[in-house]
Order: sequence, then C-alpha cells, then structure tokens
Amino acid sequence: MPGLQDGGENHEEQKIPFSDVVVKRKDRAYWVRKWRTWDVTISIGLMVHVHVMCLWYAGSTFSWGGLLMALFLTTFVGLFGISVSYHRNLAHRAFNVPKWLEYLLAYCGVLAFQGDPMFWVSMHRLHHQFTDKDRDPHTPTEGFWLIALVTYGEGWHNNHHAFEFSARHGHEWWQFDPGWYFIRLLELVGLATHVKVPSEMQKQRMALSKGANTT
Ligand SMILES: [Zn+2]
Ligand SMILES: [Zn+2]
Repeated sequence: MPGLQDGGENHEEQKIPFSDVVVKRKDRAYWVRKWRTWDVTISIGLMVHVHVMCLWYAGSTFSWGGLLMALFLTTFVGLFGISVSYHRNLAHRAFNVPKWLEYLLAYCGVLAFQGDPMFWVSMHRLHHQFTDKDRDPHTPTEGFWLIALVTYGEGWHNNHHAFEFSARHGHEWWQFDPGWYFIRLLELVGLATHVKVPSEMQKQRMALSKGANTT
C-alpha cells in the first residue's frame, strides 16, 4: 500500500498581531490535497465497473419487481443512512439515539457508497466551514420542493445552512422533510433525545438579518 501524502506545499500563513511571528498551518483541504493513484483507481474503477455491468445486464434481467426493490433500497439507504444518520446525527449531532441504533443507521449509510462515516463527516464539516468559498467540496443550492422530494428533505439547503444544528430542515409545515418525520417518530417513541430545532425567536432574528442584508 502506498503511504499517505498530503499537499505539502499548501500552507496557510497567518501573522500574529503586534509581533513578528508567522504561523504556518498545514492545509489539508479536500481539493488541494494530493490524490493517491490507489484512491483514483479504486473509485473510478469501481464506478465504471458497476455502471457498465448495469447497462450490460439491464436488457436481459429487467423486471418491475426489481425496479421497485431498487427504488425502495435507494430510499432506505439515502433516507436512513445518509440524511438521518451521516448528515443529521453524525455530522451535526442534531439528536441523540442509543448506540445500537446509531450504529445500525450508520450501516445503512455505508451501503450508499459515499465513504465511511468519518470520511463523510469530515468532508461535510469542511463544506459548512467553507461554504461558497473556493475550497467548498460542493456548491450550495437554494431550497427547492423537487430537490427536497428526491433527497428526503435535504433540499431545504438554505434553512440548513442558517441552522446547521437543527434536526429539522423544512421549517414550515409544507416543506416536505421525511428525514425530520422519522426523527420525530423516534423522539415520540423515546428513542431519540436532545432533538435540536431552532426557536421561533432564532428564526425571526435570522429573517430580520436577511432582510437587512438585501436592502
Ligand atoms: Zn450545504
Ligand atoms: Zn450539513
């Protein structure tokens, strides 16, 4: 196995005020790191392989039952694994569940092919830290109903960036957010505790500051 490398020449320099001391911080950001041949071969190879196989066998093995099962599993993995576990539970600690359930949900996330929990969480925290800046691993979008529909409530992206800690991404009743419905259900049966949502006061303050920014 090749050894780990990081972008050695990428440093952030910061001068400490009222002194001559310059602090160099090693920059380990996503896009400026050096990728190992191993990473690239495995991820691209695997993706190409899976998709070529799908196309190759699609014609001869298609069935409606199979399609339904695929849709069901995609929802299962995306909703419980990515949206509820990786994103809201692990990356933002928006609520607590007993360890056995935390692990079970995280296992659903592993099935989504988006990396292990630690990798996903660190990528995601970087995204929140550098939103809209050049080191952001993905570009933020505004809230759209359609996106919310196919992403289990993750489409209320502007809400989420306003209140990252919130277990609920749709702030109004009409903002479809199945991830939140599931967390609420867990709370009602006593499995989820310390469920965090913004208070009315916080939401009003946010609305006011947004209004002030646009004028
Ligand atoms: Zn985001
Ligand atoms: Zn987030």
